[in-house]
Amino acid sequence: MNTLADLQTAVDKRRTFAIISHPDAGKTTITEQLLLLGGVIRSAGTVKGKKSGHYATSDWMAIEKQRGISVTSSVMQFDYAGKRINILDTPGHEDFSEDTYRTLMAVDAAVMVIDSAKGIEPQTKKLFKVVKQRGIPIFTFMNKLDRDGREPLDLIAELEELLNIEGYAMNWPIGMGKGLKGLYDRANQRVELYRPETEAQRFLPLDEQGQLTVASDLVKDNVYQQALDDVDLLNEAGNAFDPDKIKRGDQTPVFFGSALTNFGVETFLQSFLEMAPAPAKHVINDGDESLSPEDRRFSGFVFKIQANMNPNHRDRIAFVRICSGVFEKGMDVTLARTQKTLRLNNATEFMSDERENVENAVAGDIVGLYDTGNFQIGDSIYQGKEKIKFAPLPQFTPELFVRVTPKNVMKQKSFHKGMQQLVQEGAIQLYRTYTTDDYILGAVGQLQFEVFQFRMKNEYNSEVIMTPIGSRTARWVDPEQLDEKMSSSRNLLVKDVHGAPLFLFENAFAERWFHDKYPDVKLTAKL
Ligand code: GDP
Repeated sequence: MNTLADLQTAVDKRRTFAIISHPDAGKTTITEQLLLLGGVIRSAGTVKGKKSGHYATSDWMAIEKQRGISVTSSVMQFDYAGKRINILDTPGHEDFSEDTYRTLMAVDAAVMVIDSAKGIEPQTKKLFKVVKQRGIPIFTFMNKLDRDGREPLDLIAELEELLNIEGYAMNWPIGMGKGLKGLYDRANQRVELYRPETEAQRFLPLDEQGQLTVASDLVKDNVYQQALDDVDLLNEAGNAFDPDKIKRGDQTPVFFGSALTNFGVETFLQSFLEMAPAPAKHVINDGDESLSPEDRRFSGFVFKIQANMNPNHRDRIAFVRICSGVFEKGMDVTLARTQKTLRLNNATEFMSDERENVENAVAGDIVGLYDTGNFQIGDSIYQGKEKIKFAPLPQFTPELFVRVTPKNVMKQKSFHKGMQQLVQEGAIQLYRTYTTDDYILGAVGQLQFEVFQFRMKNEYNSEVIMTPIGSRTARWVDPEQLDEKMSSSRNLLVKDVHGAPLFLFENAFAERWFHDKYPDVKLTAKL
């Protein structure tokens, strides 16, 4: 990469995104289809199979085996249609953690996968909120069309009702479940047949009026007429396609399909790659300046730190989203927070080693840096003399809480040290109760507590006892309005690491009760 033009070309072809969904909506299945299209894997079942130990050969997996760190699916990179795609994994289920949210800070677009039989589910909604707040484009894939699902018009309406985002249907199902015939593709002026007799018959062109230009039995089918009626309705009363709204995340292009039967996935990918943005400018140095992804100086920020769960290896991986310049192994960078120089020797780029012409990582790409404790979440690193500091990552409101104490009271020192460092690193949120100064830990997922407990023992030789106080709603309160008497076991009063007071409400009922009792007291939630 010698010239600015080379760097520009490289940046322009990057598409970095995350797939957000509720467990079981089909995120793994669609990811796998995308990897198949990108030629990274050769057969379906490979990605899921990783849990049972079968996976494709690529260099990040070698790292995983060597180090016992599960990075396999953290970042998946492949080439398709002249673009270089980075998919960042957003773990759900029991792996849900603040890192899942923070990963959304490192992408330029999001794809929301929805089970068309279930509609919008809770985890999708949570992740959506974070993406929406960033104002980046959001694309929707309504999955499992091969099963009977909800009315497509309902699904579109639900986007507006529950998520407050306009939906624009790029294509429309012709039937569903056993009666699935195909997609009426408004965007590409064609009908895409489900299971065509020959590959040549897969696409049937439409004319300017939206009528088929070739003879087909489809026109006699009720489901086809129904699709035409629906599309008429969308044309007349639906949202108008609006690229500016899409760019800001105020409108989402909606694609229908079935990941399992690989129907509509490639059509989706092609449109997505056309519409999704390449890496953009970043605001730096407290909003005073902006940094172009084509700036020659390498820079990036740490959005996730993954601890090694293998006791023989204490290192961890700091995931860095590159924002400008070119990454080179062994390069010297400055850590903005400490102004210390670091040499980036132990780094891994997330790409398949089978690919030819491996080029350097640039803006939009992710590098994993082996870390022995230098990095904290949100850290900025940069090349050169002039400081480059990215905006801090937002804090996310925890939902699960535990009271934590050292098992051995004689080992207070290591307990406090470990606690302080892990909280500083961003692994978990710490609160203290108002009157008794007890330690309360907050997380968005159970995994964070488990990692915390493990690391306390292995890295700080401190065994901890965690007593769950359950799922709670955290609401910050204006100190001016606070009276300690307002606290009870149903709305525990604590302070965060900055000393700001907040209540942990047992449930919605407790919060309502509080509102009724103290109508003038203002409560606020974070992201
Ligand atoms: P994830 O939890 O979101 O990653 O979901 P998975 O990709 O693991 O899918 C959950 C289940 O739904 C699996 O049994 C998949 O085989 C199934 N599934 C995924 N996509 C489809 C689809 O398009 N149609 C049908 N019928 N099943 C699907």
